[in-house]
Amino acid sequence: MKKIMTAGPTMVRENVLAARALPFTNPDLDMDFFEMYRETCGMLEDLASCTTGQALILGGEGMLGLEAAAAALTEKGDRVLIIENGIFGRGFDYFAELYGGEAVTFSSDYKKPIDVNALKDFLEKDHDFKYASLVHVDTPTGVLNDVREICNLLSEYGILSVVDSVAGLFGESLSFDSSKIDILLGGSQKALSAPPGLTMVWVSDKAWDAIENRKTPIASYYANLLMMKNYYEKKEFPYTMPVSDINGLRVAIENVIADGGILTRHREVAMACRGALTRGGLELYLESGWANTVTAFVVPENIKSALLLKDMVDDYGIMLSDSLLEFKDKLIRIGHMGENAYDEIMIETLKALAGALRKQGFEPLADMAEYFRSFMK
Ligand SMILES: *Cc1c(COP(=O)(O)O)cnc(C)c1O
Repeated sequence: MKKIMTAGPTMVRENVLAARALPFTNPDLDMDFFEMYRETCGMLEDLASCTTGQALILGGEGMLGLEAAAAALTEKGDRVLIIENGIFGRGFDYFAELYGGEAVTFSSDYKKPIDVNALKDFLEKDHDFKYASLVHVDTPTGVLNDVREICNLLSEYGILSVVDSVAGLFGESLSFDSSKIDILLGGSQKALSAPPGLTMVWVSDKAWDAIENRKTPIASYYANLLMMKNYYEKKEFPYTMPVSDINGLRVAIENVIADGGILTRHREVAMACRGALTRGGLELYLESGWANTVTAFVVPENIKSALLLKDMVDDYGIMLSDSLLEFKDKLIRIGHMGENAYDEIMIETLKALAGALRKQGFEPLADMAEYFRSFMK
């Protein structure tokens, strides 16, 4: 088996795989499933410090959450503010416009977190927006944004917020309540370390109000959050829930709850990773705002990214991520989130990376694996 040290999906623990392989029930008819589903959503609410909203699990990969948020909040002609400093951030305009919104983009330097002061100046002049979207960790570069500060600012103007934390949650701290987030999105396959296939959504009471008071119905069936809202009272889901996926997710959530040091582990592994790469003579893409879940480094001159990544797989059985769009072939990413964020596998990855770099003609300036090991001691 290849080791997926990628920016998602990540590696999955044995007990999660085992839970997915168990016999399963009919989730439409078995009242125990409704209890289990609700209890699992309650755990997600606790993990995100969400006391004033509702968590839901949707059957579909993380992108479903982005679409469901746009479908729920956008009505024809609504102005939507796209706050972005990365590829996922700027791409939300697609969803806003798909549902009839008018997307207005506020862009910030891609090498740093979103400039909150510049956003303040922008909002002072123009704040007539139904909602705004932003990304917690924009994965193609690994930049971490200050969700709390930005969403609190938006809230002062009465602008609802949609936060994509698919690549942040459980590896970065985030509080739904105190950040004043209205719709928060997570995916099963990042730091939660379950296989891809599920989206997690947290919806604030304010967002439910806005959704329930729409003038027009939500133009979607499968991505319609309103169809999910009262599943427990009605004992009805709009579609048959992927019960095996949810059985696995439940165990992955229990793994996170049992791991009291999970955020510290992510922070330390990320620091050690960045230190190892830079001492090895590699350049980090970001100037600041490095996330604890993923690190992007610049592919050294004269090295072909695709060949390096192929050597990693062929010679060492380890997959790393390239990047997307304008960063394709220019950046390589190590996903150190969830089950990937452990010393042993990180040391193995850094050793392999040194070997693959050498094979392509780049001699690391230091023993990256050894640096990592001594940092973590
Ligand atoms: C992974 C991810 C998603 C889900 O997208 P896929 O590319 O389909 O995995 C959404 N947003 C962010 C920030 C992500 O990292």
